Amino acid sequence: MRIGVPKEIKKLEYRVGMTPDSVLELTRLGHEVIVETGAGAGIDMTDEQYVEAGAEIGDTDAAWAADMIVKVKEPQPAECERLRADQTLFTYLHLAADKPQAEALARSGALCIAYETVTGATGGLPLLRPMSEVAGRMSVQVGAWCLEKAQGGRGTLLGGVPGVSSGEVVILGGGVSGFNAAQMAVGLHADVTLFDVSINRLEELDELFKNRLQTVYATRGAITEAIRTADLVIGAVLVPGAAAPKLVTRDMLSLMKPGAVLVDIAIDQGGCFETSKPTSHDDPIYTVDGIVHYCVANMPGAVPRTSTFALNNRTLPHIVNLAEHGPREALRRDVHLRNGLNVADGHITCEPVATSLDMAY
Ligand code: NAD
Repeated sequence: MRIGVPKEIKKLEYRVGMTPDSVLELTRLGHEVIVETGAGAGIDMTDEQYVEAGAEIGDTDAAWAADMIVKVKEPQPAECERLRADQTLFTYLHLAADKPQAEALARSGALCIAYETVTGATGGLPLLRPMSEVAGRMSVQVGAWCLEKAQGGRGTLLGGVPGVSSGEVVILGGGVSGFNAAQMAVGLHADVTLFDVSINRLEELDELFKNRLQTVYATRGAITEAIRTADLVIGAVLVPGAAAPKLVTRDMLSLMKPGAVLVDIAIDQGGCFETSKPTSHDDPIYTVDGIVHYCVANMPGAVPRTSTFALNNRTLPHIVNLAEHGPREALRRDVHLRNGLNVADGHITCEPVATSLDMAY
């Protein structure tokens, strides 16, 4: 099979669909990989490194002419126009709120497999997981930066120093991103309290972290109490298929210490703080009632190297499967990959996407 890896064209997107190591796995199996000139530049991977891995380097047209296109971001309108009925697209699509893209992909007739709906043998959405891991770990790093006086923060060092108390970190949601945030906060010697509505999850985390953090059932009263003394509050909740619940309302901000920080990882689902609004890496923070807010919807975009490698670890087995068996046979054999198929032969093939867009399924 010929596999194309185009350079991402979306603004501020530096990730790339395949690393040279991933390319080598495909070329060793006898497949041809064509990488667009400079596709890896954003993660400091040169064309020469791709050539050493057995890839050909070509222009945009050459990369998009391949049998299967492997990307990171959803195709932009000009990219959708390039897709043909005999091609397969494997990338994040996020179609549920993007009817123009869904219609363009349907018009193309191509097989379009979305990373975000591929399921895992042990449950969950394994191709979304690495981005939650990155965002969770980053949330403590950016939260610590926001706490610096220059950013309008309280001027508190999360880890304290000998003789001075640590900062208090409150994490709302103990799933993938909340767990990763907790690991970083505990590692920084912060004083950490984690809330969730799943008692089973709280039991697991209590067992995992031993006495390194407090786990608390997420009631409105308990959260209200905890934010009074918190230096950093991280929002990491998810209610599948729904907007994030507003766990901290505007009137609750007045209870918080001036210069305390809210980092809203859940901003892509509307945010779990009433005062959250999406920001970008260009201008990531703003202040409401003296509380610093960080609400970047694409946190992993700031660390494209780590994010690309983390994503490739999860996508590579599927890319190999698609290349070795051919897309239709690979989809027939693997129900989890098949769950990722969003558009095929001119139709939407993912029921939740069709329902949310009011399109035929
Ligand atoms: P997850 O499903 O692994 O975890 C969510 C947790 O929230 C679960 O443990 C759940 O029990 C808990 N929860 C649900 N309602 C709650 C409530 N009312 N109070 C307390 N806890 C509650 O989800 P995840 O992978 O950690 O993702 C969390 C959010 O982060 C999602 O919206 C995801 O899309 C988003 N995300 C954002 C970025 C970014 O760059 N901003 C990156 C990756 C993921």
